[in-house]
Amino acid sequence: MPKTGENALATLLCGADLRPSESPREISLYFHIPFCAKKCPYCHFFVLPDKEALKTELLGALALEWKRNLPYLVGKQIVSIYFGGGTPTRLSPDAFATILEWIAQGPAPIDKECEITLEANPDDISAPLMQTFAALGINRVSLGVQSLDDSHLSLLGRRHSATRAIDAVHTVAQSGISNISIDLMYDLPEQTLDSWKRTLLAVEHLPITHLSLYNLTFEPHTAFFRKKQQLTPLLPTPELSLQLLNEAVQFLTQTAWTRYEISAFAKQGARSKHNCGYWTARPFLGYGPSAFSYWDKKRFRNVAHLKSYAQALQDNRSPVDFTEQLPFPDNLKELLAVELRLLDGVNLHTFQARHGILPPDLLATLQELHTKGWLSLDKDRASLTKQGLLFYDSLAETII
Ligand code: SF4
Repeated sequence: MPKTGENALATLLCGADLRPSESPREISLYFHIPFCAKKCPYCHFFVLPDKEALKTELLGALALEWKRNLPYLVGKQIVSIYFGGGTPTRLSPDAFATILEWIAQGPAPIDKECEITLEANPDDISAPLMQTFAALGINRVSLGVQSLDDSHLSLLGRRHSATRAIDAVHTVAQSGISNISIDLMYDLPEQTLDSWKRTLLAVEHLPITHLSLYNLTFEPHTAFFRKKQQLTPLLPTPELSLQLLNEAVQFLTQTAWTRYEISAFAKQGARSKHNCGYWTARPFLGYGPSAFSYWDKKRFRNVAHLKSYAQALQDNRSPVDFTEQLPFPDNLKELLAVELRLLDGVNLHTFQARHGILPPDLLATLQELHTKGWLSLDKDRASLTKQGLLFYDSLAETII
């Protein structure tokens, strides 16, 4: 085993004076806005039809949840706010003005660099709408582009064409919101390396700052899951799948992009502050049906049902229907596995100061992964090697 690894772990074993730090001041907020024009066949998120009565019901319940959670916010500072869904832009700008006003009037100051992201679909973008959102303080837009190949967009049940998606990106940029992220999917039925290359070339010309890359998965309770047998023969082979991923990584990193997380790429200064919070255990509160939170070392989720969510809040009950608090050291193992998704790796001293001392069996696992060539250990830092990036799921399983 190289010396660096030995030294790093030996130093950590002497770190017994470290104590977990106090609960952090910086927090994030997430709002789940579940409305969509229609359900995409691969989507497993909690989604509702775009109906005015449901929107009114959601806003009323969000107001109650906001009030209920105010005590959590005392002494905190908000560094990122994320409106996800669903398709948040199905809610009117007035509704966002209301929510942003609650936040501004709340006990937690909003950091002056606060990242405020709005998820949107290309077919909903217009210049007046985006200008209104920019004026409200939205400073980042995440667009569900998914592909720039019309045949794939149609197969994915998306309502936009490639041209519409490209126009939407330009419209957002022209409205004064320069921090723009897009989602792209690969491993699609009948996808070829050539069509993927064409998508990547088109991406290069877009005024975007961030890109999240996903492979298609067949999640239970989706239309694609029910058609899995029919679709599976059309999927790229494992070899082609690896080629698609490698092509994207090589193409992007040779241009202006940095791969900073397993599936996220950013241009200079545009790493997602909100998502980095998820990977580094920043506390966040999730509002709305099905929204997750991570707070006080607990993960919890609101019930994924609008009526039950709203009724609980009207009855002055918690809308949470799932809570998980892993015991030590399982919590620490999970946090470490998640933070290792970041290509900068994990400073193990800082990690221990925040979360607690790494137990001997975890140190032995890190040593084993280092010997296997999946983990680099340099001074205090553990990070994925190229091999580790490819086998992240197995690596995370070994750690957890
Ligand atoms: S638009 Fe997004 S959230 Fe809505 S159904 Fe499609 S994938 Fe799901």
